[in-house]
Amino acid sequence: METVFAIAAFTLGACIGSFLNVLIYRLPRGIFFSGGKRSHCPHCGALIPSYANLPILGWVFLRGKALCCKEKISIEYPLVEFVTGAAFLGLFLYRAPFVGGQLNSERIILFLIDAFLVSNLIAASVIDLHHKILPDVLNYSGLAVGLILGLFLPELHQDHFVFRQLTSLGPGARGFMDSISGAIVGGGLLYSIAVLGRLAFRKEAMGLGDVKFMAFAGAFLGPEGVLLTLLLAAILGSVVGILVSLLTGDSLIPFGPFLALGFLMTYFQGPNLSQFAFETWPKWLRTSPIAVPLVLGFCGLCLLGLFWLRSLRRRGGSD
Ligand SMILES: [Zn+2]
Repeated sequence: METVFAIAAFTLGACIGSFLNVLIYRLPRGIFFSGGKRSHCPHCGALIPSYANLPILGWVFLRGKALCCKEKISIEYPLVEFVTGAAFLGLFLYRAPFVGGQLNSERIILFLIDAFLVSNLIAASVIDLHHKILPDVLNYSGLAVGLILGLFLPELHQDHFVFRQLTSLGPGARGFMDSISGAIVGGGLLYSIAVLGRLAFRKEAMGLGDVKFMAFAGAFLGPEGVLLTLLLAAILGSVVGILVSLLTGDSLIPFGPFLALGFLMTYFQGPNLSQFAFETWPKWLRTSPIAVPLVLGFCGLCLLGLFWLRSLRRRGGSD
């Protein structure tokens, strides 16, 4: 029985992924609210028959070519569907809503919240990669859900209560305070960075999309969690950003996907990650005799790797 539900979770995810593809196409073009039109071919405008719209399978059956005009269909469509399906399957296994052969309603609710969050972040990341924007619809819906959950499901905030000591308040009030202060810290921090960037570089360093996005993240994660998210995103973003700019020469990679990744890492593993970053790792650096040479050696290797990549790019950079 559990297997049936696991397959159902993957299928549900793939179908949601298909809907995310619609969002990814329509939101940045501002045509999402123009009535419930059926999906049509972006090349020739012909209506797409429903069997060709089947998630993943439709693309496989058509071998990546549109039925109407034989134009190539981007592999991104089945990829988004597959990734969302795999994510839903992973979340189903992680939340394990089967307890003693029965579905546990609390865990189902947690699974649905996770699923909403992951879907929102997948759509936001892909849109940011294409258009370098984080759409308001996704940010505001996430912010609203985060604040409501702070009030009605304060268990989500139990691991990082700033307001833990305010015992006279009920858990709902503390959860809501954690949620709203997270939104203010996340949004405020990114807003200050945007203002400083404008002063320093005399141009728009960051769109307000990031500000709203981090308010959304803070509503789910609280003030401590949103700081950890930013730290993780900065580390991931600078490592990948340096590699990408060395390999492709494109220095403008969008920050959204890294914020989304840091968001998910904090959401699922926040307490463990902050313990590692602020306790285990500094303690190991202080106490272990091989810590300093190891870290220096690693930095040296990274530098060598970067120079090697750079020379590769120079050699191949004539095209
Ligand atoms: Zn067509």
